[in-house]
Amino acid sequence: MKAQPKASHFVDGAYVEDTTGAEIEVIHPATGEVIARLHEATPAIIDRALASARRAQADWARVKPVERARILRRAADILRERNHELSVLETLDTGKPLQETLVADAASGADSLEYFAGLAPTVTGETVPLGRDFVYTIREPLGVCVGIGAWNYPIQIACWKAAPALSLGNAMVFKPSETTPLSALKLAEILHEAGLPAGLYNVVQGRGAVGAALVSDPRVDKVSLTGSVPTGRKVYALAAEGVRHVTMELGGKSPLIVFDDADVESAIGGAMLGNFYSSGQICSNGTRVFVQKGIKDRFLQRLKERTERITLGDPLNEATQMGPLVSAAQLDKVLAYVDRARAEGARLVTGGARTGANDGYFIQPTVFADVTDDMTLAREEVFGPVMAVLDFDTEDEVIARANATEFGLAAGVFTTDLTRAHRVVAELEAGTCWINAYNLTPVEAPFGGVKMSGVGRENSRAAVEHYTQVKSVYVGLGPVDAPY
Ligand code: NDP
Repeated sequence: MKAQPKASHFVDGAYVEDTTGAEIEVIHPATGEVIARLHEATPAIIDRALASARRAQADWARVKPVERARILRRAADILRERNHELSVLETLDTGKPLQETLVADAASGADSLEYFAGLAPTVTGETVPLGRDFVYTIREPLGVCVGIGAWNYPIQIACWKAAPALSLGNAMVFKPSETTPLSALKLAEILHEAGLPAGLYNVVQGRGAVGAALVSDPRVDKVSLTGSVPTGRKVYALAAEGVRHVTMELGGKSPLIVFDDADVESAIGGAMLGNFYSSGQICSNGTRVFVQKGIKDRFLQRLKERTERITLGDPLNEATQMGPLVSAAQLDKVLAYVDRARAEGARLVTGGARTGANDGYFIQPTVFADVTDDMTLAREEVFGPVMAVLDFDTEDEVIARANATEFGLAAGVFTTDLTRAHRVVAELEAGTCWINAYNLTPVEAPFGGVKMSGVGRENSRAAVEHYTQVKSVYVGLGPVDAPY
């Protein structure tokens, strides 16, 4: 088989297998071909992973931050050296075109390892003077962190969690999505090749039940999930039982607002990137595109022309711009949303049909116009290449409508009026906003959601808060003044 790993899991520094676990078939979404067969982690595998993480973390916390950093930097170099091989694997697993995976997946994972390798050694405590006495603080690792990933950016998600966790002295047990289980194993291999001691980064495969077993284990100190809101609710509740730290990176239905003074071609480019990149399977996508009425016709006409020029096809061909959806289930879900949008009265501008070879999970890039706020397409996360274009008249109106959602992951504004851009962004309820850009998520910038879209932040200095905790040490320098 094309992408069969040495074994299903990576535990305590080595590949391990337990064939008594339920089978997981890994499918290449462009052809429907089975590329690997893995097994879910059994309770014995989960136990070994957590026990080794617990053991290894105690020593790792005592390693000097610069030494930890050296290992992560080496891993970043190896990721870059093997970028092509890793990108092909990610393309086979997710169906995303090689044109994307070559620049966006392992590469951004390497950035994250490099960034936190640089940052972690600068993390210090503070001294608080109290007259004669004083307090000093120590930022300590949390301990054993569980990471649970979604299927859209498998190696990037694995790195975004591993890099801050490991650089700051924690251990990690990572469960990839069962749909895309392969690249996290490669990351484990690479981290160990770079010198990471055994037990600090473990990968266990499985479906939701394996994730739930990890989240509820008393040896776990923190849970970081990237997934949908319904899963986030369950995982957050389970973690709360053990009062564990959490980071929740959940779904969205983000607004992208185009004012009629915008550079139209850039706004269309932003809207297309924010709806069609990775076949629309991106949490922060701007899936409610609000276009001011003055430019609506021009916007839709050029959007249709540009969308119809997108090259769909074999994702392993570097000229292909758009691949299939990740799975048959996702294709069915997206096609159902398209049918529903039509039934609810949205106007199909282009696309809307399944396409390509019958065994691949392809759908045309799709644009609906005349979408209204009450339509399902404007309220639910589709996670496919389906853009909803809505009209608006005024700034106040569009801000209110943009915020009228339970989600709050991201938002975008296209305008050439600098004052308006900042004024609008200040009002938008979203964790990440873009002005005259969309979907750029450099590791240097905090990323995460407000409202139902999440808790905590990944990337940047902000992630330090979520992978460490503060110990406060009071130092008495005089005699103890006791009243008895
Ligand atoms: P899911 O919520 O279905 O799954 C996320 C992960 O959680 C998977 O590994 C899944 O395992 C696991 N899981 C499912 N049930 C449980 C449970 N009860 N306990 C513990 N773990 C569980 O999301 P998808 O994989 O379908 O990914 C798409 C979603 O992820 C979208 O909503 C998207 O917006 C969001 N996302 C958010 C991002 C962000 O940073 N905010 C980035 C990327 C995606 P399995 O797959 O094996 O069922």
